[in-house]
Amino acid sequence: MKLEKNRFGDCMAKIYREDDADLGFLKGKKICIVGYGSQGHAHALNLRDSGLDVVVALPEWDKDYWKKAEKDGMKVLKLEEIDGDLIAMLIPDMVQPGVYKKFVEHRLRDGSTILFAHGFNIHYNQIVPPKNVDVIMVAPKGPGPLVRRMFLEGKGVPALIAVNQNSSGRALKIALAYAKGIGATRAGVIETTFKEETETDLFGEQVDLCGGVAEMIKMSFEVLVEFGYQPEVAYFEVLHELKLIVDLIYEGGIFNMWKAVSETAKYGGMTRGKRIFTEDIKQEMKKILREIQSGEFAKEWILENIAGRPVYTKLLEKEANHPIEIVGKEMRKMIPWLK
Ligand code: NAD
Ligand code: MG
Repeated sequence: MKLEKNRFGDCMAKIYREDDADLGFLKGKKICIVGYGSQGHAHALNLRDSGLDVVVALPEWDKDYWKKAEKDGMKVLKLEEIDGDLIAMLIPDMVQPGVYKKFVEHRLRDGSTILFAHGFNIHYNQIVPPKNVDVIMVAPKGPGPLVRRMFLEGKGVPALIAVNQNSSGRALKIALAYAKGIGATRAGVIETTFKEETETDLFGEQVDLCGGVAEMIKMSFEVLVEFGYQPEVAYFEVLHELKLIVDLIYEGGIFNMWKAVSETAKYGGMTRGKRIFTEDIKQEMKKILREIQSGEFAKEWILENIAGRPVYTKLLEKEANHPIEIVGKEMRKMIPWLK
């Protein structure tokens, strides 16, 4: 495969930096962060430390989050009191539509902004905001605690940014100001769409990051154990050592990994890897992507939630009881640098 000709200098995507963003687009506006979990706490604190006017909204029953936010000096509102020029939906994706319908929709007014950190609910029409508001996304490419830590160190976590509805004519400027407020423009912010962010996110976690990696580890473990090798030895080989390889890839790309491993690993890996990841697998990946694009996966997952997650619960239980988990629990006790 070949990459398309560059549209923006060395990068193919549009990337915004510190100077492209102006906090002024949020000055004098009231920002309401709904949720104080992974992303919520980091956004709220970073925006406040950037000099913006921030409140947090939480369900009354969630006492721990409520206490944490108050301890951090945030003003906390009940969901019934949600109000602001910009409302950021930073609660789990599956509960957002219900909270939106009950507590947010009637609070939106002409020129309001509603912000997401993931495109699922907008892209699959689980939330349909009125036409007179801006709908934007600022999605950090890292967990909330890292977003906070980098900010405190004067750095930032890269983020994706998107505009789905630009009623005010300033939606992109507002999204950039928010990205600057949480520190993301210090690292760089990539422009995308709700569609691209949602579909690539689901594809990545299904075939590569979560689904793909978990099956690859379990299957290679099973093969070694079925051939009579000790499960403890297999565990270290197929799971534990994966971190070293992923670290090399993360820090410098796949070729960086090839450079670091032995000559035998290079030759064996380059000739055998292709026999595992065959054209059939690529065809299946395309099928999975089409299920994401058509909305078939989203529908399945939404219905699964409505039904009380019967399939999800069964599968999760099976994962928890896989032999590699049992061996792994023991083996990790031998590793002093793991808590
Ligand atoms: P989270 O699970 O940490 O959210 C917890 C918060 O949600 C708590 O404040 C809790 O009080 C609130 N909450 C839980 N159930 C609720 C309910 N029924 N009604 C109202 N509030 C409820 O969420 P998160 O991981 O920060 O994700 C928030 C958004 O950010 C999601 O759209 C997610 O896709 C996106 N995102 C997450 C990450 C990440 O690393 N966690 C990264 C990028 C984007
Ligand atoms: Mg993701």
